[in-house]
Amino acid sequence: MVKEAKPLEQTQKTLELPPTISVKQLSELVKANPVDIIKQLMRNGVMASINQVIDFDTAAVIAADLGFESHLVTPPPAQKAETKKLSRPVATGDALQARPPVVTIMGHVDHGKTSLLDAIRQTNVTATEAGGITQHIGAYQVEVNGRKVTFLDTPGHEAFTAMRARGAQITDIAVVVVAADDGIMPQTIEAIDHARAAGVPIVVAINKIDKPGANADLVKKQLADHGLVIEEWGGDTVCVAVSAKKKLGISDLLENILIVADVAELKANPQQIAEGTVIEAELDKTRGSLAKVLIQNGTLYLGDTVIAGDTWGKVKAMFNDKGKRIKQAGPATPVAILGLSGVPRAGDLLIATAENQARSILEKRLAEEQLKAQVAKKSVTLDDLFAQVSQGKVKDLNIVLKTDVQGSIEPIKNSLEKLSTEQVRVRAIHSGTGSITESDVLLAMASRGIIIGFNSSPQPGAKHLAETEGVDIRVYSIIYNVIDDVQKALKGMLEPTYQEVIEGRGRVITVFPHGRKLRIAGILVSEGKLSRSSKVRVLRQGQVVADTSFDSLRRFKDNVSEVMAGLEAGILLEGYNEFQEGDVIEAYRKERSN
Ligand code: GDP
Repeated sequence: MVKEAKPLEQTQKTLELPPTISVKQLSELVKANPVDIIKQLMRNGVMASINQVIDFDTAAVIAADLGFESHLVTPPPAQKAETKKLSRPVATGDALQARPPVVTIMGHVDHGKTSLLDAIRQTNVTATEAGGITQHIGAYQVEVNGRKVTFLDTPGHEAFTAMRARGAQITDIAVVVVAADDGIMPQTIEAIDHARAAGVPIVVAINKIDKPGANADLVKKQLADHGLVIEEWGGDTVCVAVSAKKKLGISDLLENILIVADVAELKANPQQIAEGTVIEAELDKTRGSLAKVLIQNGTLYLGDTVIAGDTWGKVKAMFNDKGKRIKQAGPATPVAILGLSGVPRAGDLLIATAENQARSILEKRLAEEQLKAQVAKKSVTLDDLFAQVSQGKVKDLNIVLKTDVQGSIEPIKNSLEKLSTEQVRVRAIHSGTGSITESDVLLAMASRGIIIGFNSSPQPGAKHLAETEGVDIRVYSIIYNVIDDVQKALKGMLEPTYQEVIEGRGRVITVFPHGRKLRIAGILVSEGKLSRSSKVRVLRQGQVVADTSFDSLRRFKDNVSEVMAGLEAGILLEGYNEFQEGDVIEAYRKERSN
């Protein structure tokens, strides 16, 4: 297996390494302190604990940093070492085993997502578990012909994409439910687009086939219109007819999910240290932090020290989806764990680690995440598209397109996609009618895309989310301008234009001196609000006599950031002193309009 380092050959020492090696073994080979190896790994972007297994490439880079030239020792069995770049530890050869698929159910409201989740849960509990109280731990597992399938308990593409937007992709297969008596509806299309944007295979469940008005063939035709051609018609979309209410077709659906899973060759290494994603977490009144986690790789053991987001702790107790205490959980198993120091957030990564390193790894990780967040904040905007394309950072301009009427979608989409260049492919990853929703913003976030609204504006929640996450929303009412802007952006010629938004007005009721030179205007705010950060104009008989900024905004003696309508305020303006009673003070800000 692992041989000792050879003696010095000129200046470089050589090292023979197996395809995978633990950090501890590597430290012994290079005669270094394991902590130094871990630090070196961190510098190279790899978080590893002392017992963690790293691949040859990773080990070779670290060894090179310490002056060793590494050679791969070909493993005796007929297996090739995975040669991945510096990344997470990769399991190789036999260590990789097939794992259960993780499935999310999506579809239009009332098409039966919740009913289907319940029907699957009820029909496929194993005999020994029957009667056990199902606990809500964010996901559950069922057994199908001796194999397991994991279902995420929160249906809908919003939850799915929210996870993705946080950088966590935990779903392997999306089941899109379509009610046979209703057909494809707007949220069905959203679900399809969200799954596609994530590159997750889709299985269609045509539900409610027990209903008199059910028309599965019509649904199949509609699916084809949306690019999902079912197998029966020569396509590759797996489609199963079910009734969640009458529990018909459930095992057929599950078997088909397993077939799709087989094609995807889902694998994990149960022997490696555990990694997973927090599905949800809460503070339990009696038990403290309760985190519901999907283990994705490795095996989590009771007593393991784990880090999840910005919390850490020892796994004091672990429960499965039947509420049963368990001692270990392998890949694709949902578990609820007690023992974390705080409440992590949904989407946080969980990793097991050596106890004495948890704190330092956590600190490093937080620093790294901050850095990552700053980089991630750099989402794509039309303004800096050209720069990002030039630096090779962007190859696709992903667009979420929302319009007021259906008829506008195709012409805009086609014109936009035609703008694709050799460097950038312009893609409408989702289009639909209606206002811009939070789900649209999440999709744009998760896909590093932008949103174009054509006679469609963002809902308040969506606007807020887009502002905090730096997602670019552009609203237009003339098709030419949409195309022109994107074209200019692709060429790096887009000049931002601004429009003015009046925030508030007030009237000067008195003027008094402030020191020897300055004058303060005492005003009554009559509408909206005045904000310290706004631009401000002084109007006299409709004429602008000053256009400047606030020097100070006060309520009585206190400096304040804003004053609402109905209240009095004292103001000093930058570079302007010539107030007169009756002057109108108008606060405004400039908002980008393209
Ligand atoms: P969701 O909004 O997609 O989660 O839909 P629900 O699961 O809440 O179901 C919406 C309604 O459709 C409920 O009244 C269900 O009882 C009904 N429903 C769901 N599946 C079926 C089915 O297979 N057949 C019939 N007849 N009704 C169903």
